[in-house]
Amino acid sequence: MQKQSAIYVAGHRGLVGSAIVRRLEVNAYANILKRTHSELDLTDAGATDDFFAQHKPEYVFLAAAKVGGIVANNSYPAEFIRDNLAIQTNVIHSAWRHGVIRLLFLGSSCIYPKLAPQPMKEEHLLTGPLEPTNRPYALAKIAGIEMCWSYNRQYGTKYLAAMPTNLYGPGDNYHPQNSHVIPALLRKFHEAKERGDASVTVWGSGTPLREFMYSEDMADACVRLMSLSDDLYDKILAPAGDESSEQGLAPLINVGVGEDLSIRQLAELVRDVTGYAGRIDFDTSKPDGTPRKLMDVTRLDSIGWHASMPLRDGLALAYRDFLAEYVS
Ligand code: GDP
Repeated sequence: MQKQSAIYVAGHRGLVGSAIVRRLEVNAYANILKRTHSELDLTDAGATDDFFAQHKPEYVFLAAAKVGGIVANNSYPAEFIRDNLAIQTNVIHSAWRHGVIRLLFLGSSCIYPKLAPQPMKEEHLLTGPLEPTNRPYALAKIAGIEMCWSYNRQYGTKYLAAMPTNLYGPGDNYHPQNSHVIPALLRKFHEAKERGDASVTVWGSGTPLREFMYSEDMADACVRLMSLSDDLYDKILAPAGDESSEQGLAPLINVGVGEDLSIRQLAELVRDVTGYAGRIDFDTSKPDGTPRKLMDVTRLDSIGWHASMPLRDGLALAYRDFLAEYVS
């Protein structure tokens, strides 16, 4: 990737997309293409193709997606599968038609089976049943990985899928029902502190284990992957030595921090960061989701990249963002 390369960040207003744009700007990439949802509807194949024909991006970060937490996934399953399939199909196909050099397709760790061995390795893809609460989203993302792989095989493209662990950071969605756990808890604890509530109710049993990565770390990993030398990039794209299928391993790489904690421990950290002094209760009528989701990051280690933001510091930065955005 050259400083003048045409780089399209699809989903540049989202958590990851916005962090990728900031990272690219800091690194002096000068030709970044951005379109808001209202300027370009990526579920519209014709409009998407016109955009690629006109602007000829050379590198694409595919961070546009319909995303949400456990309740949103459960409430809008049709939208989660339809929108994500449409967006990725249109972008990947147009990228091929218009000669994109590298494309990074972003998804999430929920592509792995509900009971995958921990930590989850790239080769665990499609080895067991998925977590039902986000299966429509996960299946769309799995189809996207398969699509990258198929285009690479048939058309010689170089599309790579990067699956991050749970992300959080500036510009997150703080919706009380539909957000992911970190933004939801930042909001809940903040509001409880403001109102002087005696307790905060956290969903589920508190026992599920999750790994969390700051969005700026994810963006840094994405830009690093996109700018790898051809040699290293090709190795990540098609790792040698796999015997598990005729075609080898999917062009897939986990992006995580390599350690996890329980939702209870997370809630205690958020309580500290927000300065709330009350009790934490658990509402076990709400779903727990997958018992554990920890990424194996051996493949990422092989390019010498590691996450750098400690969770407590990242939570403090995220809380500052929440206060700036939502509290007048
Ligand atoms: P998941 O990682 O796909 O399960 O997505 P979430 O980020 O939505 O949830 C992670 C875990 O946090 C689940 O076990 C939830 O039950 C739990 N959790 C606890 N409180 C909340 C909350 O207020 N919002 C959300 N989204 N999850 C919560």
